[in-house]
Amino acid sequence: MKSALITGITGQDGSYLAELLLEKGYMVHGIKRRASSFNTQRIDHLYIDQHEQHVRFKLHYGDLTDSTNLIRIIQEVQPDEIYNLGAMSHVKVSFDSPEYVANVDGIGTLRILEAVRILGLEKKTRIYQASTSELYGGLPENKNEKGFYDENSPFYPRSPYGVAKIYGFWITKNYREAYNMYACNGVLFNHESPRRGETFVTRKITMAAAAIALGKQECLYLGNLNSLRDWGHAKDYVEAMWRILQQDVAEDYVIATGVTTSVRDFVRIAFEEVGVELAFEGEAENEIATVVACANPSYQLEIGKTIVKIDPTYYRPTEVDLLLGDPTKSKTQLGWEPQYDLAGLVKEMVASDLELVKKESYNAQWEHIVG
Ligand code: NDP
Ligand code: GDP
Repeated sequence: MKSALITGITGQDGSYLAELLLEKGYMVHGIKRRASSFNTQRIDHLYIDQHEQHVRFKLHYGDLTDSTNLIRIIQEVQPDEIYNLGAMSHVKVSFDSPEYVANVDGIGTLRILEAVRILGLEKKTRIYQASTSELYGGLPENKNEKGFYDENSPFYPRSPYGVAKIYGFWITKNYREAYNMYACNGVLFNHESPRRGETFVTRKITMAAAAIALGKQECLYLGNLNSLRDWGHAKDYVEAMWRILQQDVAEDYVIATGVTTSVRDFVRIAFEEVGVELAFEGEAENEIATVVACANPSYQLEIGKTIVKIDPTYYRPTEVDLLLGDPTKSKTQLGWEPQYDLAGLVKEMVASDLELVKKESYNAQWEHIVG
């Protein structure tokens, strides 16, 4: 039986990857941070009583800032594959805690690579590093001749998160070249799902669409509506991570849909999904969206009501204006093909958030969370 160790198993991607690897028959180990309250909501359905026989899912307390802990866990687990998904993954928050992000997202990657080397597991253990489209920084002059970012496009990170992740990218590549380790970067463009953290823009929007429709939120406050993102579904993207580690030769891959959409259009599509048609008017900080039509009379949404406003708190000191990835290499070499398009992704997220918001215990606090 193959064994895998996932850092960041309690996160969006970690939870989908754990499901996929369990389906494939792996023994799955995950590293989880100790928290003062439970933080395993995304993986609780995978938990098996550890006293049962043939348990294939095990969690270990740990942290990417703690080398000795990582060495001990990797020694104990002797994994065939490590997926390093653990990170402080929020771009805006990285401006607030840049040193911590460098430590976890940058040096944390080095700690994993070094642990494998110290333990002499270079020939056994394959390593996947969660790299990101944030490395490109959205500079127009760095796109390829087709207008996309690909494996050969230059990097120009625009946030402490991007700068920390660029260290993770290069140290992974360097260890592959220096020590002949099987270590790969997946340069993944944004990917979302009903399990996406609530302060990322897509989830913030789908939750607001549900909460506003059901009368549990008055208004959605957003930052830059003009930025463009290549949004895929996390389920498709964890399949690509696994495929990257199954190749004969270790290489880096871009994983993307090849379609880009503005935040404004994402808002429009998400509200359409609950039957609410919006009109945008005004410019920059004065832009608003009002209700033009509401297909569901039980929602009691007044025509003309303003339900989206701009709050400059959500602007970033430096922004990535456009992300659009070229998945040609991953499609041809990995045989990877996404199953979801944007419409399918939004549909699933909105349906899930409608169910969540309908619960009596739901309390619309999200507009007070800066992110
Ligand atoms: P999430 O924010 O949902 O999950 C991050 C995970 O990392 C959580 O399990 C979190 O634990 C854990 N973590 C945070 N800090 C530490 C630490 N110090 N030590 C150990 N674990 C830690 O991110 P996603 O699942 O969306 O993303 C997975 C990876 O892919 C991340 O590295 C992210 O940067 C990268 N990525 C994501 C993209 C996306 O669009 N989703 C795009 C490209 C790259 P806890 O639950 O305790 O907070
Ligand atoms: P990112 O691409 O990793 O930064 O993912 P996010 O989902 O956090 O942000 C995507 C884009 O949406 C960025 O260009 C943000 O500036 C923009 N955006 C606009 N309003 C908001 C907001 O309220 N929250 C977040 N997180 N992003 C916003």
